[in-house]
Amino acid sequence: MEARGSDQPVCSFCDSKRLGLVMDFGEVGLAGAFLKPQQFATERTFPMRLRFCKDCYAVQVTDHVPADVLFQNYFYFSSSIGTLRGHFAEYAAEVTRRFLDPGKATVLEFGCNDGVLLRPLADQGIRTVIGVDPASNVVATINDPRVKVINDYFTEEVARRVVADYGHVDLIMANNVYAHIPDIQATTRAVAEALHPDGIFAFEVHYLGKVIDELQYDMIYHEHLYYYSLLSAINHLARYDMMVFDIKPIPIHAGSIRFYACKKGSRHSRSVSPAVKALEAEERARGFDRYETFLEFSNTVAGHKARLIELLVELRRQGHRIAGYGASGRANTMIQYCGIGHEHLDYMIDDAPAKAGFFTPKSHFEIFPSSILDRDDPPDYLLIFAWSFFDEIRKKNSNYLAKGGRMILPLPEVSIFPPPAP
Ligand SMILES: [Zn+2]
Repeated sequence: MEARGSDQPVCSFCDSKRLGLVMDFGEVGLAGAFLKPQQFATERTFPMRLRFCKDCYAVQVTDHVPADVLFQNYFYFSSSIGTLRGHFAEYAAEVTRRFLDPGKATVLEFGCNDGVLLRPLADQGIRTVIGVDPASNVVATINDPRVKVINDYFTEEVARRVVADYGHVDLIMANNVYAHIPDIQATTRAVAEALHPDGIFAFEVHYLGKVIDELQYDMIYHEHLYYYSLLSAINHLARYDMMVFDIKPIPIHAGSIRFYACKKGSRHSRSVSPAVKALEAEERARGFDRYETFLEFSNTVAGHKARLIELLVELRRQGHRIAGYGASGRANTMIQYCGIGHEHLDYMIDDAPAKAGFFTPKSHFEIFPSSILDRDDPPDYLLIFAWSFFDEIRKKNSNYLAKGGRMILPLPEVSIFPPPAP
């Protein structure tokens, strides 16, 4: 891990030392590390800095926390993956229709989790479906004879083994993992190694443009190392003789993008979609290839922090009680970056009952179940950290609002709901 004041950090993608600091979050607690009071004394914190590479345009967190530390105290909550099932079924149908001859095709997904995408691929009649994931407890749940599971990281050695056992892969997929891999160069070498000369590498990640547009600095945490633009993806893949030939915005996850890449000189390389050319031009026009653009982003975020703190201070001065809603990693980043303390906020509320009784990392706010809002003395305001799910939250808490409760939305702009009378 990069230590403060030590050697200059290098770009995870291209090894350049020409990095510009975009945001410094200071020493932060790890996003998933909810804890009990007896653990406060031994809690560890880590520096977190976001940087821009002036050579390959990659925006990245350069402080890598070792995986054993990152996941040692990691509090795992099963996600509501059920809501994504439709998305994955559609995804499997789309790639099969566009690119594959099911009876002959080999498809591999790394970071395959519980097989939520692999099962619909098998349903499409794909001949060989391979899932690669290092989490043994998670892959154990796949339990589908149609899926070949490799319980490991996707390394070059694993890639060679796959090629020896099944031949080169027609489609390699990675969903929301390609932004989380510390050794991105080794993983991409593995992709290049295993991919058929006319094969496709499809990966979904959170899109940098969305972070900028909606000021989603709360998406930044230690596990989420990379924030891809098309320009940075193009530069990265070129070092492995690969290129982007199509893109697709993904509405779920509040702003993901799917990149379709192939080897240079392959069949697909000859038909680069107009969407790729359009987005490339748009990103150049928006300055995604210039450090200054991200300094401006950083300044805008600092202005947001000032407005949010100002509002909280004013509401407290008026004697209001305020609770945070949604004790997620995103809340953790915002709390720590903005310096939200116990003088601003009384406690946290979360819909996941399993989090109740735990405390947030470093800031140490106690987490209560959302049933606390049904009591006679609910807080006057809820600070909605899960702001991208506001519509859902508003509907779910219509009773609280009907009783006169109010909500503070921190992003994309600081605002109060319902809006105060003029
Ligand atoms: Zn770079």
